[in-house]
Amino acid sequence: MRTPAAQTGHRAGNRAASPSGSLKILLIEDERDIAGNIWDFLECRGHVIDHVVDGERGLARALEGGIDVIVLDLGLPRLDGLELCRRLRTAGNGVPVLMLTARDTLEDCLAGFEVGADDYMVKPFALRELEARIGVLHRRGLPPADALQTIGDLVYAPATMLAKRGGKSMPLTVAQGRILALLMRESPNVLRREVLLQAIWGEEGGSFGALHTHVCALRAIIDRPFNSTMLQTVHGIGYRLSAEA
Ligand code: CA
Repeated sequence: MRTPAAQTGHRAGNRAASPSGSLKILLIEDERDIAGNIWDFLECRGHVIDHVVDGERGLARALEGGIDVIVLDLGLPRLDGLELCRRLRTAGNGVPVLMLTARDTLEDCLAGFEVGADDYMVKPFALRELEARIGVLHRRGLPPADALQTIGDLVYAPATMLAKRGGKSMPLTVAQGRILALLMRESPNVLRREVLLQAIWGEEGGSFGALHTHVCALRAIIDRPFNSTMLQTVHGIGYRLSAEA
């Protein structure tokens, strides 16, 4: 369902504009009360909202492109949020995804990271916090000014968010790309967990556990198919990327 106001894209234009500027946000949420509240709030803040109520249509809309951030409910009819996210990433789409979950369990949230979600919030949440997290994800998702980076046979192109190793081209999520870019810049030195946390989540959340899950997902992409391990964990300290096995 695309609502008429989502297409005209403005209402209550006298309200304060968001510090993130006007973003195009795809809201995939089947609970109409929750969706209505989110939509009203974000639209009043100057964003353009596209709303769909089931996973299949959400995926199709996401793959059309032109979206800055996706707000994705975990429990959806026709295609659940985890599977939607997995298919989106498999298709090479790296748009930032913030997952909403009513299930307050770490397993659900970590499962979300494993399929490529960038952040999550547990219902109920404050709408202002939702907007702040969306802003962080969007800023994080902007391609860094850095040029192509190379360590050993691993190449990362921030502009396309593609990592290449052994002739294989691998799409990364926003979080994975950000982590890899920082590790490459610091290589062969150790990058402390606190520095990565700050770079990925800013002042607004994140945890060592969530960071570790992103790092494990990144390692599965850039190391597992190859003969040498470049991304190393320095226990209790942080991570290091090195061409030396
Ligand atoms: Ca739901």
